Amino acid sequence: MKARLSFKFLFSYLLLGFASFLTVTSVGSYMMEYHLEKLISRQLYQSAHNIAENELVKKNISSTNIDSIRDDILLAAGNSSSVIWIINSNGKIILSSRKDRLSDNPIDFSSFDPASWGSNYYQIGDFYGYFDDTRLSTIAPITDNMVTKGYVAIHYLMSDLYQRRGGLLLIVQILFFIIYIIFGILLIFFRYHISKPLRQITDGVSEFTNGNLSYRIPVSSDDEMGYLSQSLNYMADKLNRNGEYQRQFISNISHDFRSPLTSIKGYVEAMLDGTIPVEMQEKYLKIISFEADRLEKLTRGLLTLNELDIQKRMLNIQKFDINAVIKTTAASFEGSCTTRNILLELILSGRELYVRADMEQIQQVLYNLLNNAIKFSPDNSTITIETTERNDKIFVSVKDHGIGIPKSSIHKIWERFYKIDTSRGKDQKGTGLGLAIVKEIINAHGQNINVISTEGVGSNFVFTLEKVK
Ligand code: ADP
Repeated sequence: MKARLSFKFLFSYLLLGFASFLTVTSVGSYMMEYHLEKLISRQLYQSAHNIAENELVKKNISSTNIDSIRDDILLAAGNSSSVIWIINSNGKIILSSRKDRLSDNPIDFSSFDPASWGSNYYQIGDFYGYFDDTRLSTIAPITDNMVTKGYVAIHYLMSDLYQRRGGLLLIVQILFFIIYIIFGILLIFFRYHISKPLRQITDGVSEFTNGNLSYRIPVSSDDEMGYLSQSLNYMADKLNRNGEYQRQFISNISHDFRSPLTSIKGYVEAMLDGTIPVEMQEKYLKIISFEADRLEKLTRGLLTLNELDIQKRMLNIQKFDINAVIKTTAASFEGSCTTRNILLELILSGRELYVRADMEQIQQVLYNLLNNAIKFSPDNSTITIETTERNDKIFVSVKDHGIGIPKSSIHKIWERFYKIDTSRGKDQKGTGLGLAIVKEIINAHGQNINVISTEGVGSNFVFTLEKVK
């Protein structure tokens, strides 16, 4: 890829250089010639006009004393290759700045049509065959008292104009080459600064596609390249962590499924081969039923979490009375609370308290929290469910006087499959998914949940909900 990109750079550079040089040379040359033509013709006409306006010229044009102005004419011609003619009204060239050639042939004014020159005042060519070379000719009339007494003609050598054009063009071409070389050096610099990080990024991406997600692209520049590699590094890190999480998740599921299945299989086989006698079977069937319950609970928890993952952005948000939901959820635990003489105390703010949330899911949160509170509370204790209003939020707390949560575990209880040492003996059936589900639901609502707990004293779980104004 690098080679192809470099080739494209080089090819574009050469092509651009060639096209620009061609344009500068051809169009530039044409424009300069045009410009010089206009400039010189204007200057020549002005000179011719000045000579024509000269009183000596006007006075002497009809006399034989014409040679008296020769010096003036020669002075005007200077040492240039231009030729100046004074022509009388008959068309005869009576004075020329070029001594070697003084034609006796009068100029045939019938073939000379100043109108065909248009507004140019000048003509380019051999001036009706008078010259062997190409000339830029301009003519100004000599008038005295509204009478045309003759003409002043100046013939400029076109090769002089081409020479001037060539000189100017050379300057432009040299400037062009200097700029082209500077541009080339900049391009090499630019290419180095783009292609090197680009190569590092491509190398990084192929490392990622080969599965090496812990690879880091070493581009840290403060520009688009740096930003791109930072984003790619971030993406790889996320993928890596997701993969790690998936592996951990599957290993947890496998472990949690394997232990009840192993014990079920062991007891069933022992019953079948007679190791467990018929009279002892009831005890072991109860264990099998207990393990099957655990498996069912585990499957249900996993399904709920999976649904939450899918539905995260599809909450069925509605307005409902949280006090009423708390009452019905608490009522569903009445049976288990009565047998253990646990008092469910409800301290609810107002008769009705409207919140905006997904009712079914909030019910699930309350169910899980209450279920834990009852599970970890001693008999004859009190569990308090309280709602309070603060600012735009409703705070719901579920407080028990149970065994509490050790400090070292308090941050881990929200993780999937996390269970505090089962030897605490209260919850052999636990899956460690209950609080993970609670946290997912509350977070999906954009709300918060927290716990304050002291071992041996009790726990207080508090979550927020959006209040309906
Ligand atoms: P499970 O679904 O197995 O109940 P949870 O995710 O709900 O698991 O809870 C994780 C751990 O947090 C439990 O194993 C338990 O030890 C602890 N826990 C949760 N709620 C309470 C509580 N009210 N009192 C004491 N410990 C609790």
